[in-house]
Amino acid sequence: MDLFKVMAKEGHEQLIVFTDPETGLKAIISIHSTLLGPALGGCRFWSYKTFEEAATDALRLSKTMTYKAAISGLNLGGGKSVICAGPQEKTPALLRAFGRSVDSLAGLYVTAQDVGMTLSDLETIREVTRYAAGIPEQKGGSGDPSSMTARGVVYGMRYCLKEIFGSDSFRDRTVAVQGLGKVGRQLVGLLHREGARLIVSDLDASRVKAVVAEVKAETLPPARIHTAVCDIFAPCAMGGVLHSATISKLRCRIVAGAANNPLASWADANLLQRRRILYAPDYVINAGGLINIACETEGYQKEKAEERVAGIAENLSRVFARAKEEKITPLEAANRLAEERLAKARASRSGG
Ligand code: NAD
Repeated sequence: MDLFKVMAKEGHEQLIVFTDPETGLKAIISIHSTLLGPALGGCRFWSYKTFEEAATDALRLSKTMTYKAAISGLNLGGGKSVICAGPQEKTPALLRAFGRSVDSLAGLYVTAQDVGMTLSDLETIREVTRYAAGIPEQKGGSGDPSSMTARGVVYGMRYCLKEIFGSDSFRDRTVAVQGLGKVGRQLVGLLHREGARLIVSDLDASRVKAVVAEVKAETLPPARIHTAVCDIFAPCAMGGVLHSATISKLRCRIVAGAANNPLASWADANLLQRRRILYAPDYVINAGGLINIACETEGYQKEKAEERVAGIAENLSRVFARAKEEKITPLEAANRLAEERLAKARASRSGG
């Protein structure tokens, strides 16, 4: 794969590789855009098999962050980082080495939590750089963003239910949740309180067990969760799970979840449309965590943050309205809305 070509086509500004032989750090920071502000995006800790796989993930995720900030009305750019290592290789020294890498960019990139990272990991990173957001509330930060991500997904789901069924109630509705990590588990709790029927799945059997002990839920093995008969399929695990083979097996009316890039490619939104399944674009519905973190810069107030996260429903309504108006998929509509905001910022930067 020619990374230069990919970056030029997708509009990335920078891809920076960091290694530290002493701690074993192998990390990549991708800065897609700083047009609207500093490139903010979580750090993913994952055992990527190859450099190419890690770089591709960082590039794709950072572009999504640009669009997420743009459509959510935030003055932030899009970035993402990946640390290539297995969970047993995570040490405080390695995290600090990563923090120093972030610090060397002097605020161009601000890191946060993503898959495989915890609040306490972020605190370790914060020891060596101030460019780490989503710090604990007792330290003046906004805390773990995943609870606001889960809340935002619920607001978005409600809007989708109204769009399809004419009522936003979860009563007698079934939601299948793929992935019971930081977001998925909290989402399941919120949906349970809303009265939804639940079907859950995770690669980690202990997470399934813990959820089933807390709420009434059916379970399905990870390989079959996308085939669940349900109203909403909620991908809350890794990206790329929806493609021609899996989309043809979906038995839901709505796809709405927390996962970043659940579609293997943006073109797969057309397959969902053809199957008359409403797709809530990932970066619109899962923006709660980012919106929450953005509130940190103005002195964090939880109530204010919650109000802004509720705005996800309004963002989705703009997306669906545009999609209907222009007879395009909701993803295409979201892309156009985000790109228009970016184009305006570009024009005003160049005095145009
Ligand atoms: P996490 O690492 O805490 O949880 C992910 C869970 O998914 C794990 O329990 C893992 O075992 C499970 N999983 C992985 N592959 C699976 C599969 N094929 N089937 C079933 N389960 C599987 O991550 P998280 O923070 O909960 O994030 C989940 C998704 O939401 C990611 O795509 C992330 O990028 C996205 N996201 C998270 C946030 C946030 O605030 N944490 C914000 C926006 C988007």
